[in-house]
Amino acid sequence: MNAPGLLDAPLRLGYAVATNPAKGHSAMTDRSLLILPGDGIGPEVMAEVRKVIDWFGTRGISFDVSEDLVGGCAYDAHGTPLTDATMAKAQEVDAVLLGAVGGPKYDVLDFSVKPERGLLRLRKEMDLYANLRPAQCFDALADFSSLKKDVVAGLDIMIIRELTSGVYFGEPRGIFKEGNERVGINTQRYTESEIARVARSAFELARKRGNKVCSMEKANVMESGVLWRDVVQEIHDAEYPDVELSHMYADAGAMQLTRWPKQFDVIVTDNLFGDLLSDLAAMLTGSLGMLPSASLGAPMENGRPKALYEPVHGSAPDIAGQGRANPIACILSFAMALRYSFDLGAEAERLEHAVNAVLADGVRTADLMGPEGGAPVSTATMGDAIVAKLAASV
Ligand code: NAD
Repeated sequence: MNAPGLLDAPLRLGYAVATNPAKGHSAMTDRSLLILPGDGIGPEVMAEVRKVIDWFGTRGISFDVSEDLVGGCAYDAHGTPLTDATMAKAQEVDAVLLGAVGGPKYDVLDFSVKPERGLLRLRKEMDLYANLRPAQCFDALADFSSLKKDVVAGLDIMIIRELTSGVYFGEPRGIFKEGNERVGINTQRYTESEIARVARSAFELARKRGNKVCSMEKANVMESGVLWRDVVQEIHDAEYPDVELSHMYADAGAMQLTRWPKQFDVIVTDNLFGDLLSDLAAMLTGSLGMLPSASLGAPMENGRPKALYEPVHGSAPDIAGQGRANPIACILSFAMALRYSFDLGAEAERLEHAVNAVLADGVRTADLMGPEGGAPVSTATMGDAIVAKLAASV
């Protein structure tokens, strides 16, 4: 990949991203951002994003930033991983930027108050049904993948995972007594409209990229998969006949992703398979520390989509507090916010170019060190280097 535009064209999920200030706001302050650093390395990587936001501020692109708690730290402070007040704030802002939640300290908590419930509540109540996970291989990191260089060099795929339904939310769920043993139950459930809206997101996005969608499910063994395949095909035939559509069983998709990932452009799949396949795709590009994501919902009154941006990685308790975390996934998540929430595609590209340039200079956090070794830089040094490249780009 030569130019690291995670998505070169702004995404329109069937609606327009507002380019004009919403009513009642001035152009300068018409960009509200709620930052939720969360737990573990979350606050460390988010501190580097704050440097980037500050830099854009010096260039006249400012954001109305507020910060709050989510996850384990919110549980420590309030006894819940997400307060109603924070939830309400998330509904009001243009975009939420989240670090990561969780940690071993919270493993003993009841499921209902685990840190991850805060994140699930945000996704559910904001109705963020389309989770966009790009897997792109930066030139400087092509050697770093666990696959051969020619398999990953130039890779640029987008996985769209349905995020608000499926087996993570279906009822009944729970652990029940059946005779003299326990049975664990989760329910895979999809309505036609839930499938249709995420399919539309995939087709819209494909039109701005390579014009190809591969839909993945398990129609061979699951009725929900049969419906998924039918609805995706129907939406395609009725509204997007110009887009090339293929269907693949999700297990075969996993194989194909490792065999020859460049055959794909946009992959659309359900919540569970998307969770697995996007992590698999993640490793094609090297490190979890490089992977951003966007979760988008329906447009708000000002035309901007409900939106939550977050790195794919978790709170990495094994390295938390040591200044070893790679902040790039979180910084690239902010780049996605620039593009999808604020229609600042040129600024997003500038930020992505700055990341690419820093990597090309050989600057590496510990997770990006190859077998040849070298001296890794700290989280803060990586953030500073990216800001310096941004400054050098004007
Ligand atoms: P993880 O992503 O936190 O870490 C997996 C491995 O990748 C670790 O070795 C970690 O050090 C490394 N890693 C992750 N991000 C990195 C970065 N930016 N820079 C350098 N190295 C990085 O996954 P896990 O260990 O399975 O989970 C840890 C905690 O995070 C758990 O409590 C889990 O529930 C939670 N989690 C949260 C989210 C989220 O907030 N979205 C996602 C996944 C896991």
